[in-house]
Amino acid sequence: MSSVASPLVIGGVEIPTVRPQLFIAGQWRDASDGSTFEVLAPASEEHLAHVAAATEADVDAAVSAARAQFDGGEWSRLAPFERGLLLFRLADLIERDAKLLATLEAADVGRPIFEPTYDMTVVVDVFRHFGGWADKIDGRWLSPQPAFGHDRRAYTVREALGVVGAITPWNLPTLIAAWKLAPALAAGNTVVLKPAEDATLSILHLARLIEEAGFPPGSVNVVPGLGKVAGSAIVKHAGVDKVSFTGSTAVGREISLQAAGDFKRVTLELGGKSPQLVFADSNVDEIVPGIAAGFFANQGQTCAAGSRILVAREKYDDVVAGLAAVARSIRLGDPFDPETQMGALVNARQRERVLDFVARGQADGAELVAGGGRPDRAGFFVEPTIFAGGGSKTSIAQEEIFGPVGLVLPFDSVDEAVAMANDTRYGLAAYVWTRDISLAHQVAARVKAGAVYINGGGAPDARLPWGGTKASGVGRELGFAGIEANTEEKSVTLTL
Ligand code: NAD
Repeated sequence: MSSVASPLVIGGVEIPTVRPQLFIAGQWRDASDGSTFEVLAPASEEHLAHVAAATEADVDAAVSAARAQFDGGEWSRLAPFERGLLLFRLADLIERDAKLLATLEAADVGRPIFEPTYDMTVVVDVFRHFGGWADKIDGRWLSPQPAFGHDRRAYTVREALGVVGAITPWNLPTLIAAWKLAPALAAGNTVVLKPAEDATLSILHLARLIEEAGFPPGSVNVVPGLGKVAGSAIVKHAGVDKVSFTGSTAVGREISLQAAGDFKRVTLELGGKSPQLVFADSNVDEIVPGIAAGFFANQGQTCAAGSRILVAREKYDDVVAGLAAVARSIRLGDPFDPETQMGALVNARQRERVLDFVARGQADGAELVAGGGRPDRAGFFVEPTIFAGGGSKTSIAQEEIFGPVGLVLPFDSVDEAVAMANDTRYGLAAYVWTRDISLAHQVAARVKAGAVYINGGGAPDARLPWGGTKASGVGRELGFAGIEANTEEKSVTLTL
């Protein structure tokens, strides 16, 4: 039996109770074999809950429920504007419960509470944005060549794909679930969502809000579980038309190969090793906080972390010193302490992985300028860390660390800066810091990345396409690209 040890008080904050079960066909159930997994609070290592772990049979039940809703069920009969109203209603409920959702996420993932609090405003925006799309997904009117002496006309319609299997990571759990749910549902698909094992609690509350909003039972199913069991069962299931995955490049490759077997559509949002290019005209004091936020936010556990900071040689020492000062000033601590600026990493494995990269960076000859240690306290903390130099071929320059570690490297020309920026298997985001407007746009055009930010970062906006090039993924979500990724365009030709 799954259970929640709630009400649990962590750092003086009461953690709300959730139903730690599977949400299938509008019902809350334990796993078919009764199995569960344990949820710990990363910042204190305290037990939070045992959550039901979906089996292959549970995933099958969820896919059947989603299929039935898509193939003639109540969901399939809703007018597009009615789907939009459901998404608006869900957005209102998320806004109502934003504090509760942020509290669950902070406890579950170890993020300082201000971060998920901000994310919930973005989550609300994502559902409202796509609620607005639901009745505006139009086709096109086209004029094909005449055939056999007859004029022809054609139109297209954008049709939903069917059942979308959404598999999400732990780093920004509610936000990334919203990126997948909102466009898929706006376009008329039904969804089976599997959140990451390390970040289920806010998603379980989101499922309760989906129930409260009145989505037809089975149109959205939530199946917490292990990647190799529940995640893999979604990818293999013949009743799933598309897999929308956000996570590591290694698992993304596995999913892509498996999905190819039966031609499932895939969107893959994978890892990154994003560069920040700082040009010589920059005012270092002004921009250092923004550069630091670009890779320290969320303990460095963001796919778009700008963790390779490439700096014009004349500003190199200033940037290294500035970032080291920021790193030393950051207050690590309890996610619910309003003074906390950085929380814990998600689990012990992630902490060990980051510390291993720190050791490799030193062994490879990069200079450890700040941090690098493990604070002497409970919780999976790593000190904010800055490395300088060592070249762009070291493991800390090439591999995604997914922790609070930045590497600063110098360059001597724009060409060298662009070459270094592109010298990675990844291509998710890139950040350009300069007041020279021509240079900014020239560099934006030359870097291989799905998203370029000039003079500032921030969470991806619901209106803009989001996704990677190279090993950072396949496809785009958000904006109209998110609608395209959840529909197929059909042409209908009329001979006059
Ligand atoms: P992960 O790949 O380990 O897990 C992601 C999800 O996949 C989890 O729900 C997991 O249970 C599931 N999974 C694991 N093995 C599976 C399998 N064989 N079949 C199906 N599902 C499986 O990733 P993570 O550690 O949770 O997340 C961190 C990674 O996510 C980082 O690499 C990060 O860059 C990436 N990420 C990318 C984006 C983006 O938008 N590009 C956003 C956030 C995170």
